[in-house]
This record gives sequence, C-alpha cells and structure tokens, in this order.
Amino acid sequence: MNERQGVTRHRDDQMEFDFIVIGSGFGGSVSALRLAEKGYKVAVMEMGRRWTTDNLPPTSWFIRRWLWRPRLGLRGFFNMRFFRHATIFHGCAVGGGSITYASTLLPPPEKVWESGSWTGLADWKTEMPRHYETATRMLGITENKILGPADHLLQRAAEASGIGHTFYCTKVGIFQPAGAEPGKSFPDPFFGGEGPERSTCIACGGCMMGCRFGAKNTLDLNYLYLAEKNGARVFPETKVVDVRPIDGASDGNAGYEVHTVKSTALIRRQPRRFTCRAVVFSASSLGTMELLFHLKEKGSLPAISSQLGQHVRTNSESLIGARTPGYSQDLSQGIAIGSGIYIDEHTHIEAVRYPNGSDAMGFLTTILTDGRPGPQRIALWLKTLIGFLLRHPFKTVRVLQPRGWAREFVILLCMQALEGEIEMRWQRPWFWPFRKFLVSRGEKVPTYIPEANEFAKKFAQLTGGFAMSMLPEILFDVPGTAHCIGGCVIADSSDHGVVDDRHRVFGYKNVYICDGAVVAANLGVNPSLTITALAERAMSFIPPKGRERLE
Ligand SMILES: Cc1cc2nc3c(=O)[nH]c(=O)nc-3n(C[C@H](O)[C@H](O)[C@H](O)COP(=O)(O)OP(=O)(O)OC[C@H]3O[C@@H](n4cnc5c(N)ncnc54)[C@H](O)[C@@H]3O)c2cc1C
Ligand code: SF4
Repeated sequence: MNERQGVTRHRDDQMEFDFIVIGSGFGGSVSALRLAEKGYKVAVMEMGRRWTTDNLPPTSWFIRRWLWRPRLGLRGFFNMRFFRHATIFHGCAVGGGSITYASTLLPPPEKVWESGSWTGLADWKTEMPRHYETATRMLGITENKILGPADHLLQRAAEASGIGHTFYCTKVGIFQPAGAEPGKSFPDPFFGGEGPERSTCIACGGCMMGCRFGAKNTLDLNYLYLAEKNGARVFPETKVVDVRPIDGASDGNAGYEVHTVKSTALIRRQPRRFTCRAVVFSASSLGTMELLFHLKEKGSLPAISSQLGQHVRTNSESLIGARTPGYSQDLSQGIAIGSGIYIDEHTHIEAVRYPNGSDAMGFLTTILTDGRPGPQRIALWLKTLIGFLLRHPFKTVRVLQPRGWAREFVILLCMQALEGEIEMRWQRPWFWPFRKFLVSRGEKVPTYIPEANEFAKKFAQLTGGFAMSMLPEILFDVPGTAHCIGGCVIADSSDHGVVDDRHRVFGYKNVYICDGAVVAANLGVNPSLTITALAERAMSFIPPKGRERLE
C-alpha cells in the first residue's frame, strides 16, 4: 500500500486479516488471489453458497437450487431484481456470477477508454492490453469450437438477411481442447498442475444452470481456487452488513471492523465481527451500491461520495427468440452462447440456449409483438395473440406452454452499444414506506428494437416456427439485463465518481472497489473480461506485504 493509504503498521498483529474482500465474483476473486500471492492474510466474505458438480441443479425446475431468495427458502445461485427501468439478473455464489454466466468473454472496442469519467486518468490504451492478456490466460479463453443447431440456424438467418459475413463464434471460458472427446478428464490443463482436474465440454447447453461437468472455467476453478491454495479463506453464506473504521480514526487509517450474518439463516443469523487493515468491495455493481448506500446512511462510512448510484449502465438489451415445435434437432445442444452476428454497426445478436428440460423460462415468452412500448403495445399483443389463436389454435397453445421449451427455443439476445444510463437512489418506495431500497431513476431503456424483431421473424421463417417476445418487456416495458455496470465509477475526484483510477475509494484509506461498479463507460459487450482486467490492474499497484511504504 502506498503513502496515500497511510497504513498504520503497529496494529497489524491485532488484526485478524490484512484484507477482507466482500464478494467472490470476478473482481473479488482476482483481488483475493493477487493479494494472497503478495503475502497478505486475506478473507473473502461471500453471501452465496459453494457449488460443486454434485449439488448443481440439472434443470431450472429445481427452483430451490436455482433461484436466490433465501427468505423464501430458495438458496440457488441466480437472482432477479426488479426495478422500474430494468429487471437485473445476477449471480450469487462462491465464484459470483461465473457460476451462472454464459462465459462469453469479449474485449470491448478501444473507444470505451475515450468516453465516461475515466477518460484521461490513465494511459488506458497502453496499460490495459497486458491486463486483458493476463485475464484471458487465467480465464482460459478460447474460440468456441462447438456449434450447435441453434448456431447453424443463426448463421443461415444471417446469410438470408445479407449479413452472413458478420457471423462469428464466441470467445468463451470453456475447456474445449481441439480433438479431445467430450466429457474426458484431464489433469489441470491451465496452471501447470497447480489447478484442479478438468473435463471437456459435452455441449449440453447448461452453462447458465451451472456446469455439472467441470468444463466451464468458473472462478472457483481458477482465480479463487488458486487464492485458497495461497492461503485466502473463503467464508460462504456470509453476508457483510456493516464496515466501520476502528479506533475512532474516521478515515479508516487504523483499520476496519466488518460485521457479517449468515445469509441463509432465517432466525439465528450468527452475527460475527472481523477486523482488518483494508477492505475490497467486490459485491457487484448492484451489491456494492446497495451496501455502500446502507453504510453511508447509517453513518458507518458517511464520507462516501454523493456520486454513489450515478452512471449505472445496463447495455441496451432486448430478449426475443423463436420457438419451433417438433423441430428435427435439439436446439438446446451446444454451449449457452455459441455464436453471434451484427445486424448493424451498433446492434449485436447472440444465439442463447438453456439445457434440455430447463423449461421454466417458457412461462415468460409469448408471441412476438412490434410497436412502441406502452398501452398500445399491450393492445397490439392481445390482438396478435387472439389472431394467432383463431388461425392456428393448436400450434399457438403448443408454443405458449412451457413443456419442451428448451429443446425448441432459441433465445436471441440483442445488445445495442448506444450511450444511455440510469441512476440508482436509496429511497423508501411509495408501496413500502418502512425501509429504504435501491430504486432506479432516469430515462427509460428501450425494450423494442425494430431491427431485432425483423431478424427474429426471418429466423422463425427458416424453421417454420414462431417469433417470440418476452412477456415482461411487453406488459411492463421493462427490459431484462444480465449486464448491470457502474454506480461507483472511476473519476478524477469525489465530485465525479466514487473511486480514483487505482480503485481507491475517495474519503477513506485502504478501501477499494473492484467489480462492475467502477466501469465508467458503456462497453457494448459482455462485461466480465473487462471487470477481470480492471481488477488485475488495480491489484498490480498494491505492493507485496512488508513493502507497503516502499512504493
Ligand atoms: C444468466 C447470466 C449470464 C451471464 N452471462 C455473461 C457472459 O456470458 N459474459 C459476461 O461477461 N457476463 C455475463 N453475465 C454477467 C456477469 O455475471 C457479471 O457481469 C459479473 O459476474 C460481474 O462481476 P462482479 O465482479 O462485478 O460481481 P459478481 O460476479 O456478481 O460477484 C459479486 C458477488 O458478491 C456477493 N455479494 C453481494 N453482496 C454481498 C454482501 N453484502 N456480502 C457478501 N457477499 C455479497 C454476491 O453473492 C456475488 O457472488 C451473466 C450474468 C447472468 C446472470
Ligand atoms: S455446455 Fe454443458 S458441459 Fe459445456 S460448459 Fe456448458 S454446462 Fe458445461
């Protein structure tokens, strides 16, 4: 740690840990490994459970092991949070979002370093490539070699639309060595024997239900695995509820106490107190914002910048798709996101699938409906639905019921790299005035992307199927997104953001944020690779233990 952080060394021996990392996702796992390698005593507090190939659910019907809502007895790894401007999907597990993510790992275009509050604070274009390289190696990124029927259909639909040349195979963190037979085990192929045994991908399409075959390169098999090997202690099912400076040093110079409860307990919540010299918030964009708002308000960390909650970005996303009852091939085969295309400069579509039997999402899909969001779109949807029911009653009922959905459905995830942001505030909602929650404010994110709908129709024509929309997008005009970033962005001062370009929180000593919250621009691609690379960079500035004052 450097002079600015001014660590008080005489108390070290009384502290339980040098660093406490809150959250074990991409930012948290990188931080844990790099700090442990530098000789620090590290604890990782993770609200979610630890998952193995033995306890992951086979399909989305195993709702208790899929969804995270512990108060309702649901202790899975996938959470949905509902806001006025977006439904935000995120992971909650040892390994954070990596357990449920589709493992598409793409670098953003260089121009992202020229927009947003991080512009000019570092020579990003020179510095970042080496951190992307390290992240790429650690996450085991490769070009997808397994194209399933859904990917071939995407390619054919792109060709039929005159954009066949934009078709590409995704870059993914999945173990797919060339020529190896599916499901074959290998001793650690990534870290010179230091990592765990791995198996090759069997193309079951189940990546977003958690890989039960040890083929997806989740964080508990790379960064976090190695962090634990280097002495970091992971505390699963442990939710951080308070972080306070100790010994009256309001800037945190004397260290911090971190309070936790058992996240999966309903009654005996087992409160615990830990002490440490430094804290890394890595609870994801949403989780870190929520915790910091709470700590700012209750007076534990009152000096957090008032920019907290600003510049939240969700990508402009729309989920559409096509369902083809009785299609000759199983469309759930392949990897979760195997390929993509560009329908124009800003608009990108990926072919997405769930594994055979994971049909619960089928309740959320309906007949494709065009039109501007609002009551007119709902009326148009009803008119379209009634028209279909009258013209093809059996087929329409067949595509609306969930059974067989994953085998017959291709989700088309449409992302637009257009600038647009919302704000999160800590407020009492009108319908529940008893406590404060995160609420969203700002311009609505569009849920209807006309070019994407046109493409879905072409796609459906190819298979003789039905183009489909997501019901919540039509009824509530709220898009779904798995890519919430920002809210504690990197900036030059606390007037414009929450952390500096080395991820140090303005107003406190030895507090960092390393997760999607710091991202200051719309990436236009899935964000996990960038979060990993940024965390690698942030950790590279922290000197090894014992050399804190030598920087
Ligand atoms: C279904 C799905 C598919 C996705 N697919 C992709 C993809 O293909 N490619 C891609 O790049 N991204 C994908 N994402 C997004 C990706 O998962 C996130 O961008 C990424 O995980 C964010 O990393 P992070 O470090 O910010 O936090 P996370 O990985 O979200 O980790 C944060 C962790 O902090 C924990 N936490 C939160 N609050 C507390 C607390 N108070 N105390 C203790 N622990 C806490 C959470 O439980 C969580 O485990 C997907 C997401 C979903 C939901
Ligand atoms: S397709 Fe199946 S085996 Fe391959 S990574 Fe995804 S879940 Fe694992």
